Order: sequence, then structure tokens, then C-alpha cells
Amino acid sequence: MGKIAIVGGVAGGATTAARLRRLDEKAEIVLFERGEHISYANCGLPYYIGGTISERERLFVQTPEGFSARFNIEVRVKHEVLRILRKQKQVEVKELASGKVYRESYDKLVLSPGAEPVKPPLPGINEEGIFTLRNVTDTDRIKDYLDSHEVRRALIVGAGFIGLEMAENLHRRGIFVTIVEMAEQVMTPLDFEMAAEVHQHLKTKQVEFYLKEAVASFHRENGQLTAALESGKELETDLVILSIGVRPDSRLAREADLELGERGGIVVNPYLQTSDPDIYALGDAVVLENPIIHKPMLTYLAGPANKQGRILADNLAGNNRKTYGGAIGTAIAKVFDLTVASTGVSEKTLSRHNIPYLSSITHSSSHAGYYPDAFPMSLKIVFSPADGRLYGAQIVGYKGVDKRIDLLAAAIRKEGSIYDLTEMEHAYAPPYSSAKDPVNIAGFVAENILEARVRVVHWDTLSREEFGPYQLVDVREPDEFALDHIEGAANIPLDELRQRLAELPRDQKIVVYCAVGQRAYAAARILVQNGFSEVYNLSGGLKTYQFVTQRQSNEDIFEHDFIGKDGNIYQVDPDHPAAATQGERRTVDVDACGLQCPGPIMRVKKELEQLLPGERVAVTATDPGFAADVEAWCRMTGHTLLELDRSNGRIKALLERSGSSARPAAGPASNAATLVVFSDDFDRALASLVIANGAAAAGKKVSMFFTFWGLNLLKKAHRVRVRKDFMGKMFGLMLPGSSRDLKLSKLNMMGMGAKMMRGRMKALKIDSLEEMLRNARESGVELIACQMSMDVMGVKKEELIEGIKIGGVAAYLGNAEQAGVNLFI
Ligand code: FAD
Repeated sequence: MGKIAIVGGVAGGATTAARLRRLDEKAEIVLFERGEHISYANCGLPYYIGGTISERERLFVQTPEGFSARFNIEVRVKHEVLRILRKQKQVEVKELASGKVYRESYDKLVLSPGAEPVKPPLPGINEEGIFTLRNVTDTDRIKDYLDSHEVRRALIVGAGFIGLEMAENLHRRGIFVTIVEMAEQVMTPLDFEMAAEVHQHLKTKQVEFYLKEAVASFHRENGQLTAALESGKELETDLVILSIGVRPDSRLAREADLELGERGGIVVNPYLQTSDPDIYALGDAVVLENPIIHKPMLTYLAGPANKQGRILADNLAGNNRKTYGGAIGTAIAKVFDLTVASTGVSEKTLSRHNIPYLSSITHSSSHAGYYPDAFPMSLKIVFSPADGRLYGAQIVGYKGVDKRIDLLAAAIRKEGSIYDLTEMEHAYAPPYSSAKDPVNIAGFVAENILEARVRVVHWDTLSREEFGPYQLVDVREPDEFALDHIEGAANIPLDELRQRLAELPRDQKIVVYCAVGQRAYAAARILVQNGFSEVYNLSGGLKTYQFVTQRQSNEDIFEHDFIGKDGNIYQVDPDHPAAATQGERRTVDVDACGLQCPGPIMRVKKELEQLLPGERVAVTATDPGFAADVEAWCRMTGHTLLELDRSNGRIKALLERSGSSARPAAGPASNAATLVVFSDDFDRALASLVIANGAAAAGKKVSMFFTFWGLNLLKKAHRVRVRKDFMGKMFGLMLPGSSRDLKLSKLNMMGMGAKMMRGRMKALKIDSLEEMLRNARESGVELIACQMSMDVMGVKKEELIEGIKIGGVAAYLGNAEQAGVNLFI
């Protein structure tokens, strides 16, 4: 192999050197590194600054001495390669400590110089306190500055992966963090709707961020560093991290007339050989063909650099026997509690290159919902409309994102399609996944789209004129609809859809949606099979729609507030005595983890009602919808939401009981609800109790009037001996003995349906019918049994559960007159 000179001693360079030595004990290997360190963990630098990695030494995989001793490699740190003299097959090197310049010959040269951070020539860019982060030396500078200055505010310019990692790590040190990003979103490899989820999460962490905004200049006056934005706004700050992006560090190659490509990247062939056959290159500095869209692409990732190092060494040792298939850009980052990952190409990239595609967004759980601590995950895939070939995937979630993105990356790398996802086998037990993994679900949904079983419409198409007029139909339950819905939507719950088809126009497009798209898919199938011709399911459901339609940036949040080390915003300084007095108020802790909507709200209501005005409830829940619900609920009831925090996927809310009644501002007519429960179908009974409890939780005075078959809901679980006439006895024998014997209105299947429904509710931690009835009573819902129906059906008072009022139709009508909502079920 002769003599190999390597430029760059970190990811690509060090890997190549070590592999070369393992392949050839005799080769002469010289490694030049202009920095002080080799083989260190770039990826760990932000975490060392933030303190998660506490010991500096842990950043170093190898020391120059250790590496040299183990691999018998001449390691020359603080030696910068200045020039490549191709004709002479030499490099010109400067020993940085002494300034001495010398030449070194090579038989083969390897370039792994990496990428350099972009530092635009803005006025004031060289002011003290402005940093870029590339290596250990930069890290030491930033850390020293933080340790030796009082840094209360930091400005991150650029919201890529490194910018956001730095935001989190500075925030972790108790610093107010502001991000300024020129694009309309953070993290460019993501499509907007996936980035929107990150925006909403950053908001919950009280990170201030500006989108579509750029820094124009910096200046320092009376010691205060200020960034002037292009909009004219000025941001005072104590430290700036420039993370605008990186570009290939290809000066050596350019000056040596090697072929350069995209953004100055060094062009290499699949053997990783440059336009000079004796010079190879790898890592961040090279441009390679993207194997999906066959366009030249740069990849700034450690994984590809390391893998290329191995292939390159094999080619040097074995005369070009291995080819590199190209990187597909599989990346992952932790953004506070979120994990954000992408692989392949995004919708944005495909559309920029005019490549036709389809896309789908699914929301699943990290593992079986019935096993504790399941967290939501949003998954977007883009694929070919011709054959379903998978082009790219993006995931935002809390747990298990890494293994899903790796499955998807493997499928994409092997030119797999969405059909492969439907069959992809995964390890499953409840703590880890579901029998149908989120990756399978993504495949199923994409298959339905590709095979035209359902049409999907994306959030951004709804507002486009060319889509034309449409009727929006929300197929969730009324209580879900009451909490939030898309303006203009009609609410027809999925289970009522077949009976209410006549309410829908047949001459218009119909867009159905639910929380995430699953119920809406079932609704779309019902509509299509009932002759509705243009039915669309809103991809990603209300969840994605809400992420994208909320305000995306988070500006000016610190102007009058204080941020605590816990990440919460305070109206007063948390160290101020006034905050301490507030802390002495009585606060009741409520653990609503594992409960699903409306369970957590019901718990909050129950507890808050026991308290005096000014007293508080601190509730923790894992249902992600709870954050929005509790805000809406407080708006409706007039209670005060003091804090709302999401950490590690848990939602913590602190609520204060308002004045004496805590009723909403609306007048009495809108503040009561009455329901007539006529049916004893299990599902209808369930719906009536969901609505009643939801309305009660929203502060309404609720009356339920049980008449005829509805009385069966109120019967005690055990039979009570009472005197009855013949007809009463006959009815008693024929009718359900109690709520436990109720049947489903459809698919009852000799009682199997109701049992399955109960089992499913239990698995999903939804209260049983009996628990809902108990909750209703405890929430003050007035349960009235119709006297006349009891007489007709021979039902005695003793047969009914406790707390039931026996009343006539007047009792119902009296309440109904006061009510804004009257339902007959
Ligand atoms: P580098 O590892 O950057 O090595 C290049 C080396 O060459 C440098 O040390 C430089 O000093 C030296 N050099 C350059 N020119 C000369 C010269 N003329 N003479 C002598 N020496 C020279 N990637 C991920 O996949 N995941 C992550 O989580 C991740 N996090 C990151 C966090 C940070 C803060 C940074 C900076 C990068 C991160 N990366 C991450 C990117 C990853 O580190 C790079 O993709 C990878 O290190 C590229 O390897 P490389 O060999 O091409 O370049």
C-alpha cells in the first residue's frame, strides 16, 4: 500500500487510519490534524456545554498518544496541511506550535477535512460573546465564557439540529434562550407539519423563537451585546451561538484543482476517489449521488463518515473493491422531551425536484396503550404514486422514535416500498410496541391511499381555492367536538353516521376528520359505500391540523416575565418573596396518568370542587390531549390555569379555583344541559354519560331524565326482592337486570359485542359505564327516573341505585327550559 497521508483526525480520518492498520500492518500511515485532539465526539459537545456530560475526558474516544500506540500510526496534531502538491505527490504542512512549514510525501492521500460553520460577514460578527461550535476548542471557549460571565440570555442564530441541541442545553443551564431562524420552520430536513409539532413543543418549554426573521448586525454598547434583526427589532443578549449551517471545508481540494460539486463539496466516485485517482475523500466534505433521487447531495452526519472510512480503507488496501451506495440522510435529534428523526428525502425536496409523490401522516403510540407510559408519535412517509416505493420518512415523538426511523431507513436503503412496511416484522411485547407497530400502520394507511380505498387531503390543500367548496365533518364524539374543532365542521359521530347520511350534501366534496384519522377513515368508507363520490380523509386528523394552524413562533415572551430553572414562566421572579407566599396556598396533587379524555378533566373537576376559591390542584396526566383540554376547560369554567408544563411526555397543570361559583360568564340558558335517556343500548347509554360528564366538567348544570328502557341503566347490579304485579314480573324477566346486561345497538353478536366493547374500554383505560354513572352522580349530575315509566314497567324505587330522584315530566321540562343543550338519546 505504500505511504498513506490522511488529512483530518476525527470521524472519517481516524476511522480510515484505524481500519487501514488492521488491514495492513506494514503500511506507513501519517495522520495530520490541525486541532489539538483527534477522534473525539463532536456529537456530544452540546451536552458537555449543558452539563449532561459532566466530564470533559468522556468526549475523547482516543488521545493522540493512545491512538498512535495502539495502531502504530504517526499522529501529528496541531499540524495543518496547507497545500497539496499533486505532481510531486506531496503535502505542505505547517507545524502550528513552531510555525515551521515542511513537506511530506504520499503514495495515496485521504482527505477528511469535514465541514466548517458558516459565519456571514455581518457587522459586529466578531464581537466578544459570539461563537460557532465545531470542535473541542470551540466548546472550551463557550464553556469558559459561560462560567466566567453572567449569562442570563442567549441567542441562537439558526434552528438546525445543532442550534436546537444548543438551545436545550443552554436552557438546561437556566438561561433565557431566544432562537432566530430565517426559514418558516426549524430543522429543514422536516416538512412543515412535522416541524410545527416541534414549534409547539418549544413553546411549552418557554423557548422564545422568531421564524422568518434574520439577524442583520450585532453591536455592543456599554458592555451590552445586542443583535439587530432585519425587521428592525433589537434583542439584547449575553451570548450568541451561530448555527446557521455548515459548508464543506474543501479549500485544499479547490486549490489543488480537484473536481468540486454542490456547494463546493469534493466530488468522489463510488470508491470514494476524487478526480485524482491517488486522492480519496470522505465525510462532510464530499458530494455524492443521493440514491433515492439520483442528485448530488452533501451529508453532514457522523454515521456515513464512519462507514465511508471503512470502505475507503478497504479500497486502499484492496485496490478499489468496495463501493459506497450513498447516504440517505438518516438523522435524529433530541429536542427537549421530543425525539425528532428523518430519513430519505422530504416532500419539500421531492417537490423541488419535480418528482411525483404521495404522502401520509399517521399518529400512533410508542407501545400498547394499555401498558403504562405509552407516548404518542407522529409519522410521515412520502412514497411513489406509481409503485409505492418509499422515498422518505419523518417521525416526531417521545419514545421509540429511534427504532422506527431505523426500520424505515433500512427499508428505504433497500429500495423498499410501502408494501414492505405492511409486512415488516418487529419485536413486540406490550412495553415495547403493539402487534401492529407504528411502521406497519404507516404502511397500511399508505396502502389504502395507493389502492384508492381512501382519498386523503392534506391540511394545506383545504385552504386552496382549486380544491373548491367542501363540507367538513367531524366524526368524533360531541364532548371531543365541544373542546375543539375545525371551524365550519358539522359534528356527526362515527357511530351515528349511517343514520344521518341524509344530513350530508351529495353534490359537494366531503372532508371527514377525527382526532388522528382512524375513525375518519372508517367514516370515509361508510360514505363512499353509500354513494358519496368525493370523500376525503384529512391526513393526520385534527392533531396535525392543530399543530400547523396554531401560531408557530413564540416571540416577545420574556419581556415582562421571568423564566425559572424548571423551564416555567413566572409573572414574578421565582426568587422573590411574593412567589413564596403563593406557594403556601393549599394545593392538592392529582395523578391522572394513564387516563384518557375526558378522564383527567373529570378528576380535576372533582378535586377542584372540594376546594375553596384560591386553592389549587396540581394535576399530572399522560394523555397528550389534556394540555389543550385543560386550557379550554379553564376558559369555559373560569378557573385559572397558572402553569402548564410538559416534561418527558407528562403534562403537569396547576389550576386555581376561581371565585365562589366558578361558573362560566355565560347566562343561565347556556349553562345547563338536559338529556333524555330513552334507550338502554349499551353504546347509546355510554354516549349519554360521556356527554353528561363532559358537560358537567365544563361547569354546566346537567339533568338526565331516564324514561322507559333508559331506566334499565339505573337498576342495581343485584336483584332486589320487591312485590310486583303480573305485568311487572313479566317485564322484570324480559328486561336487562342492570346496566351490566345492556346490549350494543349494533354488532351485539349475542352479547359478545358489548363484552368486547367493555374489554376495549378497559384496555384504553376508559371508565366503565358504571364508573361513568358514579362519576356523573359525584359531579352533581341530577339523575331523574321517570315516575310514569316506572309505573308502566313495574320498576320499583328499591330496584334503583342510590341517589336517583324520582320525578315527572315537569321536573324534566323545568330543567329543559333553563338549558342551552337538550338531547334525546
Ligand atoms: P470532522 O469529524 O469534522 O473532522 C474533520 C477534521 O479535519 C477536523 O478536526 C479539522 O480540524 C481537520 N482538518 C480540516 N482541515 C485540515 C487541514 N488542512 N489540516 C489538518 N487538519 C484539518 N452527526 C451526527 O450524525 N449526529 C449528531 O448527533 C451530530 N452532532 C453534531 C454536533 C456538533 C456540535 C457537530 C459540530 C457535529 C455533529 N455531527 C453529528 C456531525 C458529525 O460530527 C460530522 O458529520 C462528522 O464528524 C464528519 O466527519 P469528518 O471526518 O468528515 O469531519
